[in-house]
Amino acid sequence: MTQSAEQAPNSVKHVVIVGGGFAGLHCARKLAADPNVRVTLLDKNNYQQFQPLLYQVASALLAPSNIAFNLRVEAKKYPNIDVRLAEVVSVDLKSRTVQTANGGHHQGDFLVLAAGSQANFFGTPGAEQNTYPLYSLQDAERLRSRVLAMLESAHRDQSLIDKGALNFIIVGAGPTGTEMAGAFADVVHGWKSKKGSAKMYKDLAFERTQIFLVDGGHAVLSAFSPSAQAYAANKLTTRGVEIHLGTRVKEVGSGYVALAEGSRIPTHTVIWAGGLKASSLSGNLGISTGHGGRIDVENDLTVPGFTGVYALGDFANIAGEDGRPLPQLGSVAEQSGKCCAKNILLDIAGEPRVPFQYLDKGIMAMIGRNAAVAEVGKHRHELEGAVAFAAWLGVHAALLGSTRAKLEAFMEWAWAYFGGSFDAAILDRPEELQINWKDDAEE
Ligand SMILES: Cc1cc2nc3c(=O)[nH]c(=O)nc-3n(C[C@H](O)[C@H](O)[C@H](O)COP(=O)(O)OP(=O)(O)OC[C@H]3O[C@@H](n4cnc5c(N)ncnc54)[C@H](O)[C@@H]3O)c2cc1C
Repeated sequence: MTQSAEQAPNSVKHVVIVGGGFAGLHCARKLAADPNVRVTLLDKNNYQQFQPLLYQVASALLAPSNIAFNLRVEAKKYPNIDVRLAEVVSVDLKSRTVQTANGGHHQGDFLVLAAGSQANFFGTPGAEQNTYPLYSLQDAERLRSRVLAMLESAHRDQSLIDKGALNFIIVGAGPTGTEMAGAFADVVHGWKSKKGSAKMYKDLAFERTQIFLVDGGHAVLSAFSPSAQAYAANKLTTRGVEIHLGTRVKEVGSGYVALAEGSRIPTHTVIWAGGLKASSLSGNLGISTGHGGRIDVENDLTVPGFTGVYALGDFANIAGEDGRPLPQLGSVAEQSGKCCAKNILLDIAGEPRVPFQYLDKGIMAMIGRNAAVAEVGKHRHELEGAVAFAAWLGVHAALLGSTRAKLEAFMEWAWAYFGGSFDAAILDRPEELQINWKDDAEE
């Protein structure tokens, strides 16, 4: 048993939380307000990443430090939260014990599983090896370097444009893919402007840049209203994004994407925003999981059959009012974290747990400069255009952890809005420059 568990006096209940994301961190903070609870917060990273803004790191609008926050700093004002940097590799749900990759194990009176999501490639040949998913900070940094590597390559040898150096393909037209396409369209607009990158990459044929958005469904932003979908599609098209709907990606090769409709697009940058499943830990729990590899939880967020075990956020299928699983959203994760903490405190007090009730504040998506869609509240009051754009900036800045993070994000957004250059355009993964262009000729 670990020191942290051994040290807890009998009257103090020990809660082990796996994952310091939206769900785990909110749960830990609420529990920590009770001095009779001691929390061990385990995460494989020493930071909480703010996923809604990953695409802004990938498009060099924000720096990684704008969207990732040190967990120890987040927890430092709570003496009863012990943050541990550790990857959990297996879990014994019965004894509420987790095993970590570095050989440690932690046993709690309560165990909270909040390990989030990872990309789901749905078995698409070549996708795992040849695409850039956008679900973690490392993903965003790698993609940023890849895009910059493409500019450098095309600037060095413009014949590489024929091999797709300036073709960027985004798979999945949900909020992540649509936001990425819109941000990219803005970035490309900046590249083409005389004031911007055209000055930095002299004589590069930026006008040959192409952005493709591909989805097997029949609309962009399928979770939104038809008018929001039409608005988004129109804005993207006007800004130069080529939208391919109703066609699946059949295969991703090292220098191309093959679509089910039969076309083949040369490219070395395929961004995968095609779907999510529970993080890999869900395969090591010794129980059968539900849709997307997530744990089907009871309405009080407990894992059926295991006393004192909860699952939250993206790691769980949490039923909404209509009985269908709620979507993987930061607001669901945050609220489930708080509800779980409440139920653990009720368990300790020997009182009945309360069911989780999701307060739906609505959904929003950014399409690019001055363009966004929002559906506010349970009754989905619709906003679009500059008003929704301003609302998006406000809501996302408000969600950022510290005042400093909010100010920095606003400064960067304002800088970009008024035409500033992308200072965060740093190619810090030189391996992204290693591209075998010869492969394409043979394909
Ligand atoms: C690109 C993108 C854009 C999004 N945009 C929005 C948006 O605009 N609005 C919105 O509401 N939601 C949005 N979401 C969804 C939202 O970010 C998630 O629903 C939310 O982050 C889920 O919170 P979570 O705590 O369940 O998981 P996460 O925030 O993913 O946290 C999980 C944590 O678990 C850790 N972890 C995983 N496995 C292990 C392990 N084995 N051992 C130890 N630690 C582990 C991870 O390091 C991570 O810190 C977006 C998501 C993505 C990917």
